[in-house]
Amino acid sequence: MSETADRLSLIKNSLPENVRLVAVSKFHPVEAIKEAYDAGHRIFGESKAQELQAKYPLLPEDIEWHFIGHLQTNKVKYIAPFVSLIHSIDSLRLLQEVDRQALKNNRNIPCLLQIHIAEEESKFGLDFEECRNLLQSAEYRSLKNVTIAGLMGMASNTDDKGQIRKEFSRLHSFFNDVKKEFFPNDPFFKELSAGMSDDYVLAVEEGSTLVRVGSRIFGQREY
Ligand SMILES: *Cc1c(COP(=O)(O)O)cnc(C)c1O
Repeated sequence: MSETADRLSLIKNSLPENVRLVAVSKFHPVEAIKEAYDAGHRIFGESKAQELQAKYPLLPEDIEWHFIGHLQTNKVKYIAPFVSLIHSIDSLRLLQEVDRQALKNNRNIPCLLQIHIAEEESKFGLDFEECRNLLQSAEYRSLKNVTIAGLMGMASNTDDKGQIRKEFSRLHSFFNDVKKEFFPNDPFFKELSAGMSDDYVLAVEEGSTLVRVGSRIFGQREY
């Protein structure tokens, strides 16, 4: 087995059954993705629209591509024809553009709302109130070609495990509130995307259903 395949199966085997692994392949070549694919993995995450658009035709059709990075509205069109899940919706305007591009491609695109949980300025995302306002808006309710499948969050970049756990735990309870308030009978609203290489174990303990792991599978990225 390749090193990539080794690391992948170690992580996969450690996850509970209800948690799926998004192998984050950004900045890694298609050969690396192919290795993970050949080891049986099918869910990959990318964070740049044009990088994903370039890789997509070079790799097998049955890959489930997740978009996880900050997405500019003018780049939605590059990934709309094939993306399986967008984790990073951080404004109504972006969601409206995803809906417009989904319609153009005659499909429905599942999306997660990205929630700002880190106690630091740098991360993108909606705060709790912005998220509620979005879901209450007439503009959101009129959208036909997107499905809100859950929430995503990124914890602070810190070694303080207590802090990280607190942030994931707040995200999970907000998820439960939103589910109750807006999606009580909606089977599609079920994903909580939380956890990266350094904190996915904590995230899973705090209710994550989708972990996004890059460097722990593919090694360090070369920017
Ligand atoms: C790059 C990235 C990851 C993966 O990061 P690692 O620390 O390499 O696991 C996860 N989520 C998002 C949003 C990212 O941009």
